[in-house]
Order: sequence, then structure tokens, then C-alpha cells
Amino acid sequence: MVAREMGVPVVNFEDAVEVPVPEGKIFRKIEVAREVIEADVVINLPKLKTHDVMPLTLAVKNIFGCIVGRNKARWHVQAGHDVGYFARMLVELHAFVNPALNIMDGIVGMEGNGPRNGDPRQIGLILASPDAVALDRVVQEILGLEGMLTTSIGGEIGLGESELSRIECRGERLEEVKIDGFKIPIRTPQKQILGKTLRWLLKDSFTYRPVIDHRLCSLCGVCLEACPLDIISYKPSGKEKLVQIDYQRCIHCFCCQENCTEGAISARQGWLGSMLSKLGLS
Ligand code: SF4
Ligand code: SF4
Repeated sequence: MVAREMGVPVVNFEDAVEVPVPEGKIFRKIEVAREVIEADVVINLPKLKTHDVMPLTLAVKNIFGCIVGRNKARWHVQAGHDVGYFARMLVELHAFVNPALNIMDGIVGMEGNGPRNGDPRQIGLILASPDAVALDRVVQEILGLEGMLTTSIGGEIGLGESELSRIECRGERLEEVKIDGFKIPIRTPQKQILGKTLRWLLKDSFTYRPVIDHRLCSLCGVCLEACPLDIISYKPSGKEKLVQIDYQRCIHCFCCQENCTEGAISARQGWLGSMLSKLGLS
């Protein structure tokens, strides 16, 4: 609404352009939104929020939004469960897009099981820097979190400054804006409780998965188009039909949920994960 009032066009990234990335180690070419390639300047506007894999979406990771639609989910598939690989890809992508400025909205952030089931958390800060790695490092300090891979890898490859003592902060003093008890998605206790094989067998019992509310579904077919693995289909139900998901092949990318304009798809945690959460073990 503010953008409309100011005459700033808002566009969805739909058209991807393949571009070479000579410096890339993860990829030598990548498909990025045409608008990003054609822009004179890119300004990155991340929101401070948790993410179940990274475990925060800050300035470096936010550039993943320059990957168009279903290609995002393909990267998730390729990254598999290798968080290091995914983090390195994000850092290389950020280096390629090279935003001139990063302005983070941390007024009301998200904590807990983000990005889909997090809780609002009053942070009260807007932070900005041309150096996304330094910005992320400062936010980690404020939230009392360590060990974010995108920050350490970003520092290692020279994308930005990851060493706090070498970052010059202006404005508020860090000690005065620290947040106590910020909650990130916790996955480790589950790993301690169960062995690897058992966890693999029970993985769908832990994770969030998309669930369709057939009362809200208008059978529009948008989610069938959005799913990168083509595992959503219509199934006959009496004289009518219903939308169904092949959960055996679902990668939990939630492209279907993002694209459903009827709000008919929600993320629901598996029974075991839900039970451990209630017991305070996840
Ligand atoms: S996008 Fe939503 S409303 Fe459309 S078919 Fe899928 S679940 Fe139903
Ligand atoms: S069903 Fe939804 S969450 Fe699962 S792979 Fe397809 S788009 Fe992703």
C-alpha cells in the first residue's frame, strides 16, 4: 500500500535468466530473476526471522528470493540435508547479486519455528549495512546466537566481515539492545533421542508437512502447477474430485502453501514431533 502511494511498482519475480558465475564453486551458472539482472542497483530488505534449516533468515539468506519460483525448491532438493552446501550456495548467490545496501526490518521479528510456524517477537530495531555478513553477525550478537554458517562462510570467502571486533557499529550500543531468550527452531534433541536409522524411518512423523483443507479448496489447480516435483494431483472422490499429495515424495518446500490463495493448505507437524514439542523436547 505504501509502495502504491509512492508510485513504486511491485513485481513478482516470474521470469528467470541463466547467467554465468565464473567465481562460483557451487555453481558455474545460475538462473536468477530477470529484474535482478537488469536492475541498476539491488537493495536487499530482509526481515529478521527464524528458519528451520539455517536457523535464521537474515541479510545473506534473503537473497535466495532472487531465485524464481520452483527453482527455489530444486535448490532445496539439491542441498538435501547438507546445510553446509546450502549455506555456501546462499553465500555465493549473495556475492553474485551483490546488493549495494542491506536494510533489515527487525522491528517485530519472528522467533520459534519459523518461517511457517514462528511467533512474533518485539525487537525494535532497523539495521543497515552495505556488508551483509557484518550485518548478520551483529544481529546474531544481539540475539545471543552463534555459529551461523552463512556468516562464517561469508567471512571465509571474503564476502564481508564476520569478526565482531572488526565491525564498527553506529547508533545504538550493542549491549543496550540485546534480546534475552530468543527462540530458534530446535532440532537437536530429537537427534539425541533417536538413532539415525530410526529417525530416517520416522522422519515424516517429525517434520511439518502440507495438509489440505478440502472445505476451503476450490480445486483451482494452482498448487498442482506450483509443486516442483509434480506430486500433487486430483483424485476422484464420489462424483467429484479432491486434491491429494504424495507424501512419500514430498520435500516440504511449501511452494504449494505459498501459492494457494484460498488458504486451504496449512503446515502441520508430524505426530512424533508434535508430541516431543508438547513434552518440551523439541
Ligand atoms: S491451490 Fe489451494 S485451492 Fe487451489 S487446488 Fe490447491 S489446495 Fe485447492
Ligand atoms: S507437495 Fe507442496 S511441500 Fe510437498 S514438494 Fe510439492 S510443493 Fe513442496
